[in-house]
Amino acid sequence: MKTAVFYDVKKLVVEETPLPEVPKDKVLLKVETCAICTWEQRVYTGVKKVSYPFIGGHEIAGELVKIGEAAAGTWQVGDKVVFGTNLACGHCHYCRVGEEQNCLNFDHSKQQPGLPYRGMGGLSEYLVVAPANIFSYQNVSSEEASLTEPLSCVLHSVETAEVNFGDYVLVVGAGIMGMLHLQLAQKRGAIVIVSDPNEARLKLAKQLGAAHVVNPVQEDLVEKVRAYTENLGAQIIFNTTPMSDLIPELLDILSNTGKMILYSSYYPDEPVGIKFDHIHKTGQQIIGTANSNKRDFLRAARLISQGIIDVKPFITKIYPLSQIESAFEEAVNTEAFRIIVNFEQERSEDVC
Ligand SMILES: [Zn+2]
Ligand SMILES: [Zn+2]
Repeated sequence: MKTAVFYDVKKLVVEETPLPEVPKDKVLLKVETCAICTWEQRVYTGVKKVSYPFIGGHEIAGELVKIGEAAAGTWQVGDKVVFGTNLACGHCHYCRVGEEQNCLNFDHSKQQPGLPYRGMGGLSEYLVVAPANIFSYQNVSSEEASLTEPLSCVLHSVETAEVNFGDYVLVVGAGIMGMLHLQLAQKRGAIVIVSDPNEARLKLAKQLGAAHVVNPVQEDLVEKVRAYTENLGAQIIFNTTPMSDLIPELLDILSNTGKMILYSSYYPDEPVGIKFDHIHKTGQQIIGTANSNKRDFLRAARLISQGIIDVKPFITKIYPLSQIESAFEEAVNTEAFRIIVNFEQERSEDVC
């Protein structure tokens, strides 16, 4: 089978690796599509350090083609599934209480069974996976289904924020993560304001239901948010950008008792000055969120399958595996939402 392997910064090679054996408690997933997340883009550009060789890819959808005997019954050959939540250790305190997203041993470089190198493995034609980490999907393309993983992380974020009917919500950044925050917050009855310097993205945010959009390069974000929120500030702010220096200004437009959700990872992660007396007096909360758990994943797959969340606007372009370097170049050099690698377009032969 074919696997795309990172050998260095901007050096990605498609190579032949043996088809993994399927132990009796596992299933074999034929990967149909894998979306290129910001995480893999950072590996490609060298911002995120990994040890080479490394196999990336964690936004994965496909079809089951072999079922180990101990896994038979629940799952069948031909089932369409998404794969995720396997980076947590499964046995620490947080995993055991259902908070796998904050696992003590969370490992983005975990080696997948049957693959020759470390990494999440989704840029491989086949994956051996545990039944606990697959979730059914229906009615949509595998490209759409592969966006379950990002949606599950956003679902976790929006539920952590406890968005309520009538809340003023500010979403900072209108990439795919910002757009998914907009959609989920809106489903919970919030009045959503979206901020981004890209006019095309703001236009799409409006189409997707943003009550107001702000271009912070051309407009005064603080002034606009106050005007749109009865001078209260937003009750919830989701920062989906990697820029920590925005946080002090955002705290000025967070309402009293409001919640600042730190969704994105921060690059570079420099300390910023925050006045704690302000937090003390206003009762504001600053809350981190990262990754997702099985409960989030299962429901995210359902939201996409049932058409509650439409992810089609975020599928920018689909590439076959042989053009994976072009796919990464486009992902890192453009304002693309998601570039998706489709393995079916050039699959050589079905090995199963
Ligand atoms: Zn991702
Ligand atoms: Zn754990």
